[in-house]
Amino acid sequence: MKKKRLLIIGAGGVSTVVTKKCARMDDVYEEIMLASRTQAKCDAIAAASGPVPVKTARIDADQVGELVKLIRSFSPDAVVNVALPYQDLPIMDACLETGVDYLDTASYEPKDLPEFEYSWQWNYQERYADAGIAAVLGCGFDPGVTNIFTAYAAKHFFDEIHYLDIVDCNAGDHGKTFATNFNPEINIREITQEGRYYENGQWKRTAPLEIHKAVDYPRIGPRESYLLYHEELESLVKHFPSIKRARFWMTFSEEYITHLRVLQNVGMTSIKPIKYQGVSIQPLQFLKAVLPEPSSLGEGYKGETSIGCQMRGMKDGRERTCYIYNNCSHQEAFKDTGAQAVSYTTGVPAAIGARLMAEGRWRAPGVWNVEQLDPDPFMEMLPAYGLPWEILVDGELAFPGES
Ligand code: NDP
Repeated sequence: MKKKRLLIIGAGGVSTVVTKKCARMDDVYEEIMLASRTQAKCDAIAAASGPVPVKTARIDADQVGELVKLIRSFSPDAVVNVALPYQDLPIMDACLETGVDYLDTASYEPKDLPEFEYSWQWNYQERYADAGIAAVLGCGFDPGVTNIFTAYAAKHFFDEIHYLDIVDCNAGDHGKTFATNFNPEINIREITQEGRYYENGQWKRTAPLEIHKAVDYPRIGPRESYLLYHEELESLVKHFPSIKRARFWMTFSEEYITHLRVLQNVGMTSIKPIKYQGVSIQPLQFLKAVLPEPSSLGEGYKGETSIGCQMRGMKDGRERTCYIYNNCSHQEAFKDTGAQAVSYTTGVPAAIGARLMAEGRWRAPGVWNVEQLDPDPFMEMLPAYGLPWEILVDGELAFPGES
């Protein structure tokens, strides 16, 4: 295989992991370019990456013209977008204009509307197919690995999946009173919106964090888990139409919820601009500026994450259950890449997805959610790149008999 060139955009926590992992793939890449809004952050990541050489550049990824210029000058085979969801469409436009493959970890979200959905990106299907290039959407952990766990179970263990619960626990302790594990603005927008789940062909809405239950996580124990809307639900119920109900659950500590409630009550999580000393500021963006950067949380972070898919359905006329999950230690993630487990569990899948695209195994013209691609090579690579997974077939699930 001719060695490839890769452009990575964004230089935060997730990028640290993607860049370091891809730069170790000297059998695949000849050169990597890391570009972001703040070039000094790219330089710091590049200096700690190798053996594949990593160049850096400054880019405003909201500007299609700037992106096209950078892509033309570096000539990558693919672009990995680990900036923010706001940049998905400009980067997809630039890839289309230059005929380069695209991969991201989060669905597009307009800056002024805290609702994320795939329709904006699915609209590129025909144009990408016509141009003969591929876009792989949502290749982090959730979305990403959770979609692939579901596809793997559908391929090997079920005739039909009926019930899907994605359970996401961070049982780590970073020692800070309040911090978010990925971009605070995106994280808080996600958590403070209404909950939503899919049941019998309809989306049901709940008040934010209204529904919660204790879920028993492997090697962690019971943790209160809150029903949230998460973007992979949208693509999974589309691509696995046998699913009758799909829900997403995430753990939060009492401390976290209390801080969030207070911040919400005083208006600090609002995205509506206000005037402050003659300047227009968005309270949530200001809050982001005073919170710790997710990429700074790695050192001293203890404990682990546990994220998995609990599924119930039918196989050969009998009811079957299946739970596939990964536990990831913050300390091990930090030892490997200098990043905490939330950045790690997102960056490793993106690096594997980019590798599968580069190898041509995940590269059909068009726009794809990861569950539409072959899960087997991805599942084989996960443990080798630091994310071992376990599977429990016909065991007990967190929501037994609930239908
Ligand atoms: P960070 O905030 O740590 O990093 C985001 C990076 O993007 C920063 O370096 C930032 O620059 C850069 N950036 C922002 N705007 C622009 C722009 N206009 N032009 C160029 N660069 C820009 O976030 P994370 O690393 O935690 O998250 C990265 C992505 O991963 C997000 O989209 C997030 O939603 C997604 N994610 C997905 C998960 C999954 O499992 N699927 C889980 C966690 C995250 P600067 O440094 O100057 O601010």
